[in-house]
Amino acid sequence: MVVKVDLSHLPLNLKLAILNNQEFSSLPRDDRFDKDVDVVFLDVSQEVKEKVMTMVENILSMSNIEEYSVVENMIDQSEIAVLKSGDIEELGIFICAHCGAPFQNREQMMIHQRMHYIF
Ligand SMILES: [Zn+2]
Repeated sequence: MVVKVDLSHLPLNLKLAILNNQEFSSLPRDDRFDKDVDVVFLDVSQEVKEKVMTMVENILSMSNIEEYSVVENMIDQSEIAVLKSGDIEELGIFICAHCGAPFQNREQMMIHQRMHYIF
């Protein structure tokens, strides 16, 4: 299956940390698709997809990055996304990283986000 890994929500340094990771870069890529580094297409099985999620989580925790979560898209299960938890919390607004809907508190947003993703 083709697994789509969406890195577009990540800053460049984190994106590169994942893309340059030896284990991650050794995965079979499906290059029939756009080579846009924001989204990586991998040609892997369901089982390997789960390993990829763990792998990306490990890369993030090795980089001491705690505010990002690796999530699976509930609607399109071949899609994995790395999202920042609570993007602009300083402003007191919580934006759904998937559809951009604004919420006044984290709880409301988390409930809403379950529509898109399994955490
Ligand atoms: Zn949403």
